[in-house]
Amino acid sequence: MIKLLNTLGRKKEIFKPLNGKNVGIYTCGPTVYDYAHIGNLRAYLFADVLKRALKTEGYKITHIMNITDVGHLTGDRDMGQDKMLVAQKREKKSAWEIASFYTDAFLDDIARLNIITPDKLSKATDHIKDMIELVKMLEKKGFTYKTSDGIYFDTAKLSDYGKLAQLDIEGLKEGARVEANPEKRNPTDFALWKFSPPTAKRDMEWDSPWGIGFPGWHIECSAMSVKYLGQPFDIHTGGIDHVPVHHTNEMAQSEAAAGKPLANFWLHSEFIMVDGGRMGKSEGNLITLDQLAEKNFDSLAYRYFVLQGHYRSKLNFTWDAMDSAQNTLNNLYEKLAECKEGKTGAKQFEKTFFEAINDDLDTPKALSVMWEMIHSDIADSKKYASLMKMDEVLGLSLKEAWERLNEPLPEAIMVLADLREALRKENKWAESDQIRVEIERQGFVVRDTNKGSVITRKIDKN
Ligand code: AMP
Ligand code: ZN
Repeated sequence: MIKLLNTLGRKKEIFKPLNGKNVGIYTCGPTVYDYAHIGNLRAYLFADVLKRALKTEGYKITHIMNITDVGHLTGDRDMGQDKMLVAQKREKKSAWEIASFYTDAFLDDIARLNIITPDKLSKATDHIKDMIELVKMLEKKGFTYKTSDGIYFDTAKLSDYGKLAQLDIEGLKEGARVEANPEKRNPTDFALWKFSPPTAKRDMEWDSPWGIGFPGWHIECSAMSVKYLGQPFDIHTGGIDHVPVHHTNEMAQSEAAAGKPLANFWLHSEFIMVDGGRMGKSEGNLITLDQLAEKNFDSLAYRYFVLQGHYRSKLNFTWDAMDSAQNTLNNLYEKLAECKEGKTGAKQFEKTFFEAINDDLDTPKALSVMWEMIHSDIADSKKYASLMKMDEVLGLSLKEAWERLNEPLPEAIMVLADLREALRKENKWAESDQIRVEIERQGFVVRDTNKGSVITRKIDKN
């Protein structure tokens, strides 16, 4: 049994799948116009932990994630610049090249974070027909109107519009007087289909019953989630900023079209913050996994850093905190490496650990239970078995780390180690340091302890 806080209704609810043991999850994926930053990646780490937690409960997951490869605007409410066009200008490449390059970069990032690849990554550009069908359906039902730049959804026609975010529609009307598009009937209305500008040819544009153009942002998720998971489906995830606009609008158009809910559970992860503000492109404070690697941080140390916070709490990124996450992860690997393999775990610790996970994915609590177990006096082999079980949810590659750290050292390294010991005995520090550098260059760590020097494989695997 797993309890999750449903954004729709703001209540913790016991999760029940719609279809036996099968669970359909849809995650709003990246807009592939630039590298993902570590803030973005938190949203996918959260979805990964959710998936893993459901798997250990015995559910069979079908996970769909979209790849937004057609430009949507930098502002959520149909304002700002087209993100793909921004990238095209920046890199002097076609929209297709940009999308393909950053999709690969994204897949690389999630692999480095040990995020299980979704069952299907669906590209928006492969589903234009499905989107057009959905807009036609909305048109038939009278939810749309035309302006000079596109087809819009009339939010006033849906009595419960804004229920996900508990939007203050009247307040929005008040605040929206300065809005850019005077043709919109209501400030919350949004584009379903945008017309290509009459004077310029876009790299990405399609014919439609309303003229050549491209889809609005929200319609892609409505079309693709339902295509692969049916309506309603079980769980929709995304970052917290999706609540007031993107998910509100997905929900509105899908429910208007089909007359039934889009998803049962809506789950949202909070922001990664830097110096009290959100990490984001416009804030100019982005950090990527490559930047972490340049400073010798392991991608999995970032995973550990994220697990230390609850997904619904803001998490402040600092280099000190990252340092501490890396040290803690190294410490975990070292403690694990000292354990002998075992099959039977420490049942009580496992029970408390999974109770925390099943209580709305309380990973900070779960980690503290894990450390309590490591520091307890139970047998090593039990610790090993429980850590393996816990790692099914944590995803810190513990099995791989154990194997790597326990592999015998290669002959060449042993020779260097002996040579270094001999030099140290003769107080030849400069030469012995050179050997240390060479050992480290080959992917090993040298630690001089009071029992002599210990050489292990480097833990990080960036
Ligand atoms: P985008 O590629 O801009 O659509 O964003 C991808 C995901 O990252 C979305 O789910 C956003 O909600 C999420 N996101 C953006 N900025 C942050 C941040 N600073 N911390 C956590 N998640 C974020
Ligand atoms: Zn979406």
